[in-house]
This record gives sequence, C-alpha cells and structure tokens, in this order.
Amino acid sequence: MPSDRPRLVIKYGGSTISGADDIAKITKYLSEISHHYKLVVVCSAMGETTNHLLKLSSSMETGERQEIIKILHDIIDYHRTTSDNLKDTIITDHTISQNLDESLDQTFDELQVLVDGLILLSEETPRSRDYLVSFGERFSTLLMASALQSMGVDTVPLSGKEAGILTDSRFGKSKPLMDTTKLRVSKNLNEHIDKGVVPVLGGYTAADQHGRITTFGRGGSDYTATIIAACIDADQVWLMGEMDGMMTADPYIVPEAQTLQKISYSEAREMSMFGEREIHPRTFEPVLDRGIPLRIRSATNTKNSGTLIVPSHMVDNTIKCVSMIRDSGLIDMQGFGMAASPGTAAAIFGTLAAPGISVMMISQNPSESSISIVLKNQDLHKAVNVLEMEHLGKKIKNLNVTTNVAVVSLIGLGLRGTVGTASRVFNTVSNKDVNVIMITQGSSEINLSFVIKNSDVKTVVQALHAEFHLTDL
Ligand code: ASP
Ligand code: MG
Repeated sequence: MPSDRPRLVIKYGGSTISGADDIAKITKYLSEISHHYKLVVVCSAMGETTNHLLKLSSSMETGERQEIIKILHDIIDYHRTTSDNLKDTIITDHTISQNLDESLDQTFDELQVLVDGLILLSEETPRSRDYLVSFGERFSTLLMASALQSMGVDTVPLSGKEAGILTDSRFGKSKPLMDTTKLRVSKNLNEHIDKGVVPVLGGYTAADQHGRITTFGRGGSDYTATIIAACIDADQVWLMGEMDGMMTADPYIVPEAQTLQKISYSEAREMSMFGEREIHPRTFEPVLDRGIPLRIRSATNTKNSGTLIVPSHMVDNTIKCVSMIRDSGLIDMQGFGMAASPGTAAAIFGTLAAPGISVMMISQNPSESSISIVLKNQDLHKAVNVLEMEHLGKKIKNLNVTTNVAVVSLIGLGLRGTVGTASRVFNTVSNKDVNVIMITQGSSEINLSFVIKNSDVKTVVQALHAEFHLTDL
C-alpha cells in the first residue's frame, strides 16, 4: 500500500445508511478505496433515527410514559435488528461481533438511564435534547466501524467529543472553537491514521468546554466532515448522499435537469438553502481558506463522481441552476413613520429574532417607507403576531400578508457583472404571464431571487432552465 495515499474525509448521510444492506455495500466500497486513500469516515445517524430521537425528547414534557417507552424501544430494536442482520451476513468474526454486542448494550443502557431520568424530570431543555439526540450517531458509528473491520480494515469508532471537537455552549446550534479543535483533532486522529487505522466518526455532535454534548443543528454531519478535513489537512472531502450531485434544477420539475460537474464554494453555499440537496449552511467555512476540494456524490451510484466544489477562480463564469422554495409567505410593512428613522429595520428584525424566526429575503425601498420580508409559511403566523403586537399603529401603519408564494433563485458566478441578465430573466417570466411580487439581488451578485405565486413555479422554473440552456452546461 503506498504510504503517500491522499487523505479523504468521506461522510455518509442518514438516508444512505438505513439498514444492514446499506452498511454492507458502503463498507465494501470503503474497503476497496482504502487502498487508494487514507480514510476518515463520518456517519450520520441511521435512517430516520434523529427524527425519532427528537420526538422522544419533545415527548418528555407532553407525552405519556407509555408513548415514550414505545419510541425508545423502537429505536433500540431498529439498531439491534441491523446489528443482528450484519452478524448473519458480514460480521462473522466472533471477537468483532462480541465487541459490537458489548458496546451496543452499554450504549442502550446509557440511553435507557438518560430517558428514565428525563421522565422523572418531565423536562426537555436544549442541553438534554442534544445529549439525547447524540445517541443516533453513536449507534451508527459502532455498526459501521464493526462492519468495516469485518472487511479487513482496522477501525476505531469515535464520537465528535472523543475526536476532540470543542464547541461553544449554544446547544442545538453550536459552533466549533477552531484553534483548540484543530490541535486536539489532528493529534487524536493522526495517531490512528498513522497506524493505518480508519477513524469512524459520528457527525453532528461535539462537546463544550465542560464536556457537555452539543450539536451543530440539523444536517450537521456535513459540517463535521469539513471541520475534520480542515483539522487534518485532508486532500478531499466527499459528502455521500442519495443524489448524484447538485443539479441544475429540481428533476421533478425539470425532467431534463443535469448534475452539475463543477461549482464554487460560494455557489454551493447559495444552493445549500434549497431542497434538492440540503447541506448544512456552515459546511463550506472550514475548507474555504485551504481550498480543500469537496464532492457531493451518490452513496450507491459510485461510478458517477458527482459535483466538485472548489474556489471560484477554478470555476466557469456561468449561471449554474434555477432553484426554488415553495410554501413561503410574504409580509409587506408600510408607514411614513418608517422613513428616515434609523433603527426601524433593527427593531423589526429584533422582534422577529427574539422568537427565533428566520427571514429568507428582505427588501426596502430607498424612500424607506416600506419593508418586505419573505419567510417560511410555518413561521408566518407567529411573525405577524409579534410584529402586530410590537409595531402596528406605531412604526408600522399597514401590514399586508401574502401566503403561498415561492422564491425562485438563479444562482451562478455568471450573474456577476453580466449586463442584461436581469432583463432576460424578467422577460422570460413576463412572457409566461406571471406576476413578480418581489425581487432581490445581493451585492455579491451570484444569486438573483424573486417571489411568485406557488402555482406559477413549474412554468417559471422550466422556462428559465430552457432560456439559460442549463441542460447544455
Ligand atoms: N443526524 C443529523 C440529522 O439528521 C445530522 C445529519 O444528518 O447530518 O440532522
Ligand atoms: Mg440525518
């Protein structure tokens, strides 16, 4: 085996590890590529486990004991069944299978003790939720590490905490403290890598300086993968999911949509907002400075090398995709009192931030007498409530709400400094007789977004995909 193999951090999303069959295929593939790469494997929790653990956590305050116990047992059964199936097929070595049993049993017991404690308290806090939800990744790493070991690859299962990822204490949305993290992770992982052992790491979770478990928020395993890559100076990161890569449009809307070959970090960052292939929004930060290339790939269709994500200067100056988010709501606020009164926007956004409502799009006229915002439909009701309570009749005179709108975005470096793109976009839309409700373009000019009715989405996305020839990229 050549000792100068490149370092690859390879991450598997939960939907790609939903049972023993998946694990068998993945570990077979990993054992093959381990001849060419020094691997660090990052796993998300299996299948829907994170959702089930979150349900378990929220049931602590409201749920019946019976219901809580049922969810707990389902989670335990699911992982036990996976382990049994693996032992019937690929984990045939007695020692490996016994070690797996022991580790799983210990982890089930710890989960049981935690749940008993939380039932007594009838309480859910962000801190208890992070601890509870972290079990998903603990189970998946134990199973993956044992399966890979059975293929003849030496492995060590590690949690984010054991690997040395240190975060602040903002449970549910923590951030890594990179300096310390880098020192610890590079030391811990290099010890294994240098001995030819493959670390199999749980994504999504880490620990604060008091050793308490934290998480990065949903989809956080992507972020774990790039944090690790930055710490060990990896040569590449691959994020393995269900799709072949990032696409020029949602294939359900545009059947001829293509997988993108190469995009920049900034383009990928814009695209990560959209449903086609959601990626944790902070994923690109750790690899940006070092320019570590990232690939979005399929876990099953490994012949396709997916979408490569690299620094902007290595990417074509074109429009890459037309994305959309349906089911959004628009709030338009007006009032002469808003004009020339500094602090109005701060007050409005402060009001929305307090209950944790996030705003997707913002626009304000130069006259400053109106501000429009777009948010997810599910946040709309709450947003209108808090805005009316705090500002209606004072700063805001009128507040109009439009529900069931969609945000359509064109994304790509090609939007930057290209005269006439906006007119091409809006001509295309108006040729379809569709009314545009609101428009924004950030000054980075790689995302041009506008709002239309939900029911117009299909027509508009198809027309723009054709107008910009995205099939021929
Ligand atoms: N298991 C976590 C989640 O489902 C993290 C991840 O999948 O990346 O959100
Ligand atoms: Mg997941």
